[in-house]
Amino acid sequence: MRPTLLHLLLLCCILMVMAMPLSSLRAGVLTVAEANPAEALARHPRVAKALENLDRSLGWITEQQTQLTEISAPTFQEHARAAAVQKILSANGYKTRSDSAGNVIAERPGSSRKDVVLLSAHLDTVFPAGTPLHVHKDGHNFSAPGIADNGAGLAALVGLARAVHEAKLQTRMTLIFAANTGEEGEGNLRGMRKLVESYRGRLRAVIAIDGASVEHVTTMGLGSRRIEVILSGPGGHSWADFGTPNPIHALSRGIARFLDVRVPDNPRTTYNIGLVEGGSSVNSIPDHALMKIDLRSESEAELERLESALRRTIAEGIDAEMAASRLAGRADATRLDAKFKSLGVRPVGELAADSPLLEALRDADRLLGNQSRLERSSTDANIPLALGIPAIAIGGGGRAGGAHTLAEWYDSTGREIGLKRILLTALAVAGIED
Ligand SMILES: [Zn+2]
Repeated sequence: MRPTLLHLLLLCCILMVMAMPLSSLRAGVLTVAEANPAEALARHPRVAKALENLDRSLGWITEQQTQLTEISAPTFQEHARAAAVQKILSANGYKTRSDSAGNVIAERPGSSRKDVVLLSAHLDTVFPAGTPLHVHKDGHNFSAPGIADNGAGLAALVGLARAVHEAKLQTRMTLIFAANTGEEGEGNLRGMRKLVESYRGRLRAVIAIDGASVEHVTTMGLGSRRIEVILSGPGGHSWADFGTPNPIHALSRGIARFLDVRVPDNPRTTYNIGLVEGGSSVNSIPDHALMKIDLRSESEAELERLESALRRTIAEGIDAEMAASRLAGRADATRLDAKFKSLGVRPVGELAADSPLLEALRDADRLLGNQSRLERSSTDANIPLALGIPAIAIGGGGRAGGAHTLAEWYDSTGREIGLKRILLTALAVAGIED
């Protein structure tokens, strides 16, 4: 029999099926069988009620965001804004307390008191007291310093707390809603440190709500060390006392040596001298010189190595200045003094790729049709991550830009995606009682 076109086509089909790897067939079967757990969660009557509540509360949430943003809250001066958050939570069904770090804490007890899921948003901003904070509105668009970082996070926190309360959600683990202090700059994550210390043995997951974006999830904590270096000496007249060791010269010699230290691309490691100060006039030998330096790395070992290099090169700079001075070799020579002051330490940490917390977030993203990428950043999540406690930092929803500038803006379009994403993630980890 001569092969017809039909025969050939049939043969082709058979060969193609045979060539198909087994795994792809299996994957096909799995996708059909494996339902998204977030879907079942969202169908639970009380969860559905909480999700609806979020949709209905968008106007209220925006109002809270505006009011909170207009209350000044520089790092270390979060008190007034903390009091406002406390008032909102109290008015919405929560017994609240504050702790020695100035955090505001509201608990919603679960059937198990011993396991805790912490949702937290930082109160503080990088803007000094006196910065005009009036929120300009134009439809869905808002602009003001701190409107997103962390106005969007705080608004999400109180919105979620309210939705959980109004829907009478009963979780297995205890939910804690906290507005925390000291996230920015020299606050050194003091609020989150205190929260983690308070709940240490009970924390099963931490969700830091920071900014707006739903396009990322921070699962890797970037480590950093911020150090102030102060050199001091006797000072003197620029002409009459020439040859007296000069702290600015010594610091310059030290900095020049430090800048020759190599840092690896992988693990990525960086440094920045962001401030140099010292002296009092052009014709005086200064009695002090100061610099602030920021060291960052994906690796704790590299951070350690870089800090040692900093201490070594500054000491070498002083040695070189002493050797060049007129006092060189004299027994009564006053050596320049160096002090190293830590302005902040953020430890390195990373969420396990197979963490149930990350899985819960992925499920929520799939259900909401949201795509997000993993990110490494320096956030409140660093503290729990460094201790091996599952933690992520995610945005409160909406879009934003210009963080840490006076031109910061926020667009509330799509905010509900961010809110539901946080709620579904937290509830998947905390568990729902029927
Ligand atoms: Zn922030």
